[in-house]
Amino acid sequence: MEEKKGNSEEQIAKQRNEELSSKIRDMLPGEAGYEHIEFEGPDIIVYLKNPKIIYQDDTVIRNIASSIKKKLIIRSDSSALMNPEKAQEIIKNLVPPEAVISNIKFMPDFSEVYIEALKPGLVIGKSGMTLKGIAMETNWSPKVLRTPTMNSDTITGVRQLMFNEGTFRKKFLTKIGKAINQPIMKSEWLKVTSLGGFREVGRSSLLLETPHSKVLIDCGISPEPGIKGLEANAGSDANKAFPYLDSANFTINELDAVILTHAHMDHAGFVPYLFKYGYEGPVYATPPTRDLMALLLNDYTKLVVRSGGTPLYDEKDIRKMLTHMICRDYGEVTNITDELKLTYHNAGHILGSSTVHLHVGEGMYNIVHTGDMKYGFTRLFDPASVKYPRIDALFIESTYGGPNDITPNRHDAERDLIEIIKRTVNNGGKVLIPAFSVGRSQEIQVVLENYMGPNSPYGINVPVYLEGMILEASAIHTAYPEYLKESLKNRILSNMSPFESEIFEIIKGEREEALERGPAVIIASSGMLNGGASVDYFRRLAEDPKNSLIFVGYNSPNSLGRRVQNGASEVALPDEDGKLVPVKVNMGIRTVDGFSGHSDRRQLMSFVENLRPRPKALFTMHGEEQKCEDLARTLGRIIHADSRAPMNLDTTRLK
Ligand SMILES: [Zn+2]
Ligand SMILES: [Zn+2]
Repeated sequence: MEEKKGNSEEQIAKQRNEELSSKIRDMLPGEAGYEHIEFEGPDIIVYLKNPKIIYQDDTVIRNIASSIKKKLIIRSDSSALMNPEKAQEIIKNLVPPEAVISNIKFMPDFSEVYIEALKPGLVIGKSGMTLKGIAMETNWSPKVLRTPTMNSDTITGVRQLMFNEGTFRKKFLTKIGKAINQPIMKSEWLKVTSLGGFREVGRSSLLLETPHSKVLIDCGISPEPGIKGLEANAGSDANKAFPYLDSANFTINELDAVILTHAHMDHAGFVPYLFKYGYEGPVYATPPTRDLMALLLNDYTKLVVRSGGTPLYDEKDIRKMLTHMICRDYGEVTNITDELKLTYHNAGHILGSSTVHLHVGEGMYNIVHTGDMKYGFTRLFDPASVKYPRIDALFIESTYGGPNDITPNRHDAERDLIEIIKRTVNNGGKVLIPAFSVGRSQEIQVVLENYMGPNSPYGINVPVYLEGMILEASAIHTAYPEYLKESLKNRILSNMSPFESEIFEIIKGEREEALERGPAVIIASSGMLNGGASVDYFRRLAEDPKNSLIFVGYNSPNSLGRRVQNGASEVALPDEDGKLVPVKVNMGIRTVDGFSGHSDRRQLMSFVENLRPRPKALFTMHGEEQKCEDLARTLGRIIHADSRAPMNLDTTRLK
C-alpha cells in the first residue's frame, strides 16, 4: 500500500514539475534560451542560455512570478559564466569607487557573485542599472551585501561560512526545494501543541501540525539556565529549562521546518541542540536574526564553559544550524511546505524580530504569532505591524499583560533615566545598567547618545562603558539599517551612526578601567543579572551607596535581578574564582519602566484593537500565569473572540 502511494505521489510531483516547467518556458521569449528549472529551498531557479534578454526587461519575470505565485531567480547556464578574474575587473569598472567595495566573492554552485560594499545603493545603481550591467556582461548573478559601518566579526564569520559551505548549501537547498514542492492532499485538520513558554517566560516553542506538515515556531531555552554559581540565587530548575520536545509525539526529523521569530535565547536557544541530535531540515529567520543568533548562541556556550558548566551544544552544532538556515525579509511570502505559506512582518522588538503569519491550505486557516512584540514608540524600530491578509487565530505575548503593567510614556522614562544618571555622577558615583546585549543595550545607547556628551543639555559628560559583546551587537545593527526606523537608518547611511558616538568607551579585557576612573555609566549584559559581565560589575559596585543600579527591562521571577529589584539587602555572588561570597547591597536600586522592547498592557490591548482583520480565536503566551490568564479574558471580551491561556503541553484543534 505504502509503496504504491509513494509512487503515485512521485508521479504527481513529476507531472506538476513538468507543467510548471512548460508554463515558465511558454511565458519566456524564445531568445532567452530556456534550459531547465531547479528548486532551491522555497525558490525556483530558471536557467537560461541567454539571460541578457530578461535583464533588459524584467516585467517578463514579474509576470511569471505572479502567475505561478513563487519567487523566481534567473541564472545563466554555468557554461556561460565569465572567468571570475575577468568578471571581477568588469565589476570594478562598472561600480563607482564611492561605493567602497570591500569584498567580491564568486559562488559557482549558485552562479552568483557576492559584492560587499559600504554603499550598496551605488552597486545597485539607478533602478538597478549597474546590477543589470554586471549580470549582462559577466552572466554571473550579482548579490549585494552591506559592509557594516563598524567592524563585526560575527558578520564576517557568518558570510565566510556561507561561502565556504556553498556546495553543501546547494545540495541542502535542492533537497528542501524538492520536499517543499512535494504535492500534498488537502489536510483535514490543524492542531497546535504548546511545548514551552505558555504561562511562563522562557523556552518558547509551539508545534503546529496537519496530517501532512509539522513545524515548530521558536525553540528556546529558559533565560540562561545552568550558569553555575548563580543557580542557588536564581533558583533555576533544569526541568523547566527546555521545551517539551520529547513529550510531543514526533521525532525531530519529522519536522518540516523550524520558524524563528527572533534571536533571543528564550526563542532560539534550543535550535543547535536539534542539530546535535540529527535534525537536518531548514530553519527560517530574517537575515539579522541569523547573524544575531550566531553572536548570542556562541556567547552562551562560552559563558557556560567559563562558569564551569557543560553547554548543551558546541560551536560545531551552531555552525551546522547556520548552514541550514533560510533567510527571508519582511513581506516575502514563502512556501515552507506545499500547504504552508510563511510571511514575516515587523514586530518592533529587536533587530530582525518578526511576527509570523502562516497561511494553511488554500484559504483553510490563518495564524498570526506575535513572538515578542512592541506596539509603541522606541528609538530603534517602527511599532509592530497590525495589517495581515487574514487572521483566524492570534497567539499573543503577555510579558506585561497584567492589569497593573502600565508603563510610563517614553518621554517621562527618558527624563527619569537621565535624572538618576545626573544625580549619581554629580555625587561621584557610577551607574550600572544591566541590559540584554541585543535589544535593550542598543535602545539605551541611542537614548544616552541623545542626552550625554560634550554638548549635553543636562551637562552630563562622562564616559559610557560597553563590553565587546554589546559593541558587536551594535555593529550588526549597522549592517541592516533597512530594518531600523527611517531616522536612524538615515543617520547610519550618512555615516553618523549613534553607536559610533565618542561617548562610548569599549572595555577590552580588564574591567578596572571602568571601575577605577571617576563617575561613569556602564551598560553590561545580562539584563536579569543571571550571569555575564553585569554580575561582576554588580559585585564590585554594590557596597558603595554613591553608586546606582538601574533596571530597564524584564526580570524573570526566579532571576537574581528580580530579587535585587525587590530589595534584597544581601546576595551571594561569585567572585573571580567563581566562589560565592556574600555582598551587601548598599547602592541605589532603581527601576525605570518604559524602555521595554515588549508592549505594556495598554499597547497589547491597542495592538489587538487595531489588528486587521480581527481574529476569531486568541491565545496568550510568554507571560507569567496570572498575566496570561487575565490578558486572555480581557482581550477576549474586547474583540468577542474565543480566548484562552493554554498551559504547556495543551493541544488545541484549530480546524
Ligand atoms: Zn525577545
Ligand atoms: Zn522572549
